[in-house]
Amino acid sequence: MNNVLLRLKDISVKFDNEQILDNVSLEICDKEFVTLLGPSGCGKTTTLRIIAGFISPDKGEVYFDNALMNNVPPHKRPVNTIFQKYALFPNLNVYENVAFGLRVKKASEDEIRRTVHDMLSMVNLLGFEKRDISTLSGGQQQRVAIARALAVGPRVLLLDEPLGALDLKLRKDMQVELKNIQQRMGITFIYVTHDQEEALSMSDRVVVMNDGVIQQIGTPEDIYNEPINAFVADFIGESNIVDGVMLEDYKASFSGHVFECLDKGFKNGEAVDVVVRPEDVDVVSPEEGMLRGIVTSVTFKGVHFEIIVDIGGFKWMIQTTDFQPVGANIGLYIEPDAIHIMKKSEYSGIYGDYSSYSEDFDNLSNAGEELEDE
Ligand code: ATP
Repeated sequence: MNNVLLRLKDISVKFDNEQILDNVSLEICDKEFVTLLGPSGCGKTTTLRIIAGFISPDKGEVYFDNALMNNVPPHKRPVNTIFQKYALFPNLNVYENVAFGLRVKKASEDEIRRTVHDMLSMVNLLGFEKRDISTLSGGQQQRVAIARALAVGPRVLLLDEPLGALDLKLRKDMQVELKNIQQRMGITFIYVTHDQEEALSMSDRVVVMNDGVIQQIGTPEDIYNEPINAFVADFIGESNIVDGVMLEDYKASFSGHVFECLDKGFKNGEAVDVVVRPEDVDVVSPEEGMLRGIVTSVTFKGVHFEIIVDIGGFKWMIQTTDFQPVGANIGLYIEPDAIHIMKKSEYSGIYGDYSSYSEDFDNLSNAGEELEDE
C-alpha cells in the first residue's frame, strides 16, 4: 500500500442540533480509489465537503501529508471537486472551461495550451475545443468537467455522484473510463455514490456509512464476503440474514439445522447473525436438503431465476438456474464457505427476510405511481 495521503481523525459535525457525522476516522493512501457508499443522507457529501474545506467540523482534524489542514481555505488545499451538476461555465467554450483554473493560477499561454490539449486527449474530446457547452451531450459535459478539474493538477480528486445524471449504459462506460483516468493520472480519487454496484466495481477500498457513522472499511471483496453487520450485508447485494447460535468454532445452528462453517472466535452458545447469499445456495430434492421449504414466488432474471422460499415462516431468496414452480417442495444445500457469521448489532433483526419482497408488489406500486402521474 502507498503512503497515507489524507487522514480524517475523529470528525464530528452537527447541523441544527442533529448529529450528521459521528467520530469519523479514515485514512486514504496516495493513488488510491476510495468510495464513500451509503444511503441518502448518511453523511457522504458532508465528509467530502470537510475534506475540500467547504465545511469546518465541530470536532476532529483533517491532515494532508501529516500537515493539519483545518484552517487552510479550500483553494489552498491539494484537492479539486467534481459535482453531479457539472457546474461548467455556459458562457465559455470547451477550451476556456478547461483552461479556467490555469488562468486563475496565472499559467503561461504555452502551458495552458499544452495542458488543455493533454486533458482533452485524456477524456477523448480533442476537436471539441471551440464547441459551446450547450451543444454537448450530458456525457460530453461530464468529460469537460473531469478535464477541467484535473487540469490544475490536484493530488486528490473528489467526485460527488458524478455519473448520477447519465443513463445506465453511459454510466457503465464512464465508470470504466474514470477508473482508467485515475490510473493514468496516478492520483487519489475519493468517490461518493449510493450505488453499491458502482462502488464495488470501481474502488480499491469502500467505506460503508450509515447515520453519520462508518460501518465498515475494506476492499470490495471484504465488504461483500465478510460484511461486519446486518446493515452492510443488506446494503451490499442481496442477503438472507437469519438468527443463529454459534455452538463451537466452525459449527453454527440456524433454521433448525446444525451447519459446518469456516467461522471461529465466538463464545460457545453465542447468539449471532448468519448471512447466506442467494447465489450460494444449491437447490436439491427435499430428502437431500439441509433445509426444506416451499417456493412462494419465481421471477425470471435472464441469467437465473430468483425464487422466494418459505422455510418455517422465514422467506429466503435463492438464485438458481433450475426452474422451480410456485408451490414446489424443495431442499436447500449450503456449503460451509457459503455461510458468514456476524456478531449481533443494533441492526440485528431488521434486515434479511424477504417476506415483503414480491415482484407483484413492485408492479402494483409502479402502476399506482403511473396513475398518480396521469
Ligand atoms: P445524498 O446521497 O442524498 O447526497 P449524503 O449521504 O451525501 O446524501 P449529506 O449530504 O452529507 O448526505 O447530508 C447528511 C445530512 O445532513 C442530511 O440529513 C442533510 O439534510 C443534512 N445537511 C447537509 N447539509 C446541511 C446544512 N447545510 N444544513 C442543515 N442540514 C444539512
